[in-house]
Amino acid sequence: MMAGPNGQPIFILRDGTERTTGRTAQHNNIAAAMAVADAVRTTLGPMGMDKLLVSGGGENVLITNDGATILREIDIDHPTAKLVIEVSKNQEEKCFDGTTSAVVIAGELLKEAEGLLQQQIHPTIIARGYRMASQEALKELENLGWGPTGDDFFGVAHTALTGKSAEAAIEVISKMCVEAVGMTADGEAFDMDNVKVLSFEGGAYDESALLPGVLVEKEKLHSTMPMEIEKADILLLMSAIEVKKTKTDMQFNVNDPAQVEKFLAQEEKAIREMVDSIIESGANVVVCNKDVDDLAAHYLAKAGIYCIKRVKKSDMESLHRLTGASLVNDDISMDALGSCSLKEIKFGEHRCTLIEKDGAKTVTAILRGSTGHSVDEIERAFDDALGVVGLAFNDGTLVAGGGAIHAWLSYHLRKLATSKGGRVGMAIEAFANALEVIPRTLAENAGLDPVDTILDLRKHESFTHGVSTEDGIVDMIDEGVIEPRSVISNAISAATEASVMVLRIDDVISMKGGAPPAPPQMGM
Ligand code: ADP
Ligand code: MG
Repeated sequence: MMAGPNGQPIFILRDGTERTTGRTAQHNNIAAAMAVADAVRTTLGPMGMDKLLVSGGGENVLITNDGATILREIDIDHPTAKLVIEVSKNQEEKCFDGTTSAVVIAGELLKEAEGLLQQQIHPTIIARGYRMASQEALKELENLGWGPTGDDFFGVAHTALTGKSAEAAIEVISKMCVEAVGMTADGEAFDMDNVKVLSFEGGAYDESALLPGVLVEKEKLHSTMPMEIEKADILLLMSAIEVKKTKTDMQFNVNDPAQVEKFLAQEEKAIREMVDSIIESGANVVVCNKDVDDLAAHYLAKAGIYCIKRVKKSDMESLHRLTGASLVNDDISMDALGSCSLKEIKFGEHRCTLIEKDGAKTVTAILRGSTGHSVDEIERAFDDALGVVGLAFNDGTLVAGGGAIHAWLSYHLRKLATSKGGRVGMAIEAFANALEVIPRTLAENAGLDPVDTILDLRKHESFTHGVSTEDGIVDMIDEGVIEPRSVISNAISAATEASVMVLRIDDVISMKGGAPPAPPQMGM
């Protein structure tokens, strides 16, 4: 409501529009964002607990301690809470790890800000201090870290997997990730597309394996087709091997049995011709994206040709990259073929086809777990760890984990706060305090005294000493707890952006009936 020129009120909002303003709006927004952080806080770190997410009246359950997964699955309505969830999504997309940390930092930045707001410090000043602090932290991070060598990659995978419920499989998965990156990375670059992941329920996790090549979840069409082909000439066929169906439904009135026979003979001939063209090309393996008629399968088997059908497009493309074969429709010729070796293998009940090639830059990771839930969690863990190891490989700088870097940056920023002084200095100090939430929460979740731990940590003034859940404060590099630097820097900048965005809002107008405002894109 505003006052018009003659003092009469002017209503600019439609009746029934909900609106909160000023401190109330700020307070509510901050509380909602902090609630999101609180929801995932206890999952942080090696001693973090899992969450059991239940939906559909108990039909679907999901056990996880992955921050991004939890926040993706739970129903959250509040607009500023959604901003914080965006932080975890951004972190997941860019870094595959550090999602819980990013959200917890965002929550803590807002909690600290709330304290400053209560002291009547203007949100714009807080935002300025936070931005300054974040920039300085990122600048300081540039001075820290080292390029990974040897066992470092294993340490990175291991750290990323610690505390996940798939932890039993940690050694196996870490090793597989490092090998997968080693086998597929081309020179300096690793591309996740070259690692195909398949998981099968049933079987122990340590039966998980890395297979060179592409594993296709399809079995050969005919039992008499060969089990194994050493020197395969492979045809990648995008079209079906069947008689083309007419578009319209036609009905024949057939009185003469000879007519039926003639018709069938024609169909047979058409299929025969297609199979003949395959045989002539010299192919002894056919991978078909579409359907293959039974009769065609029979002829192919008779010719000693291995064939699988209805293979996914993505697999067709992987096979194209692996074998050099072209993806063809009807221009079947020798030139279109690729080379590889092939065998049928079995995982539990699943018969699959493994297509390999020496020196291949494509691998398939087979993950096993006893139940659907455990295999799902193993798959998520593998994906994350692979992403993180890839990150370490591609833009490789590593730093110490366990809150070591956060403690150091906090120490570093306090010096800046003192030199700046004034209200901005207070905001920078608040930012420094907020970063300590990582070592503090790691300590809390491990049952250590958080205050003692933080005081102890501050005394070290080091960027490698962090919180070991067993031994208190130790050098994390000695413990092998190491992370790509970008996991840390991205979390800090994403959390800063989100908290500043929440802070600057002092008016929440809910638009009834209209579409809710889309959460703004974060410029990171
Ligand atoms: P996030 O989603 O942020 O990755 P995690 O639950 O995976 O959350 O916890 C990550 C934190 O746990 C990081 O700060 C990491 O350095 C720390 N961490 C991992 N392994 C250890 C360990 N063995 N000892 C201490 N801290 C660890
Ligand atoms: Mg993690």
